[in-house]
Amino acid sequence: MESSTRKAVTPKEALNDLENKILVITGAGISAESGVPTFRGTGETWQGRHFTELANPVTFAAEPRLIWDWYLYRRNVVAVRGPNPAHVAIAERARRVPGSITLVTMNVDDLHEQAGYTDHVTHYHGSLWHNRCTACGLEREERSLAYADLPLSPCCGALERPAIVWFDESVSTEAFCRTQIGLMSADVVLIVGTSGAVWTAVQYAGLAMSRGILTIMVNLEQTRVPSHYFLQGKAGEVLPELLGGA
Ligand SMILES: [Zn+2]
Repeated sequence: MESSTRKAVTPKEALNDLENKILVITGAGISAESGVPTFRGTGETWQGRHFTELANPVTFAAEPRLIWDWYLYRRNVVAVRGPNPAHVAIAERARRVPGSITLVTMNVDDLHEQAGYTDHVTHYHGSLWHNRCTACGLEREERSLAYADLPLSPCCGALERPAIVWFDESVSTEAFCRTQIGLMSADVVLIVGTSGAVWTAVQYAGLAMSRGILTIMVNLEQTRVPSHYFLQGKAGEVLPELLGGA
């Protein structure tokens, strides 16, 4: 019954109401529009190995060179890609009211940062551009595109690994908490470019809807992510219109 008293607003009105706090969650689809291969597309295998085998701590323990070579290959791919109008639209909306957006991305690239998003970006599944010490867990930014020798941590002199959440690993407490806080304070949740193959987006969309938060989904294809509004299309075309001011 609560919803009957709420003023009906369109997605565009809700997203351009400068009083509103917005939780934005982005997935592989937004990066795909910049030419970053997705695991469900051309990036599913590399050198004959499936991504579920590569993004895996067991494989890293046995074949660290192989796994590092895969991540270096992916760094090289991402290094020549740039943000698209969807990334730019989010960055510009954030600039209009600093602190009004919590941005959580499932993507390991830095296209949001490249687009000029200057607040904190929560990389839910880690970042291609960070290494983690296997001894103490300390992470550092590292942008090398090739390693003659596998990287050792400056803290412990131990082997470093990609700072990525692999299969059977947990999301960092910080990423989880930042997302929860974003959800608790959100008036609107905007989910962009995820098929729902990754459970996270489905879960947060469901939580948002159960709390009565206006939930908007933008994706190229129909998805199983629940929402109040589903806007079908390219993020690079839909978001500039949606976030571009009333
Ligand atoms: Zn260390």
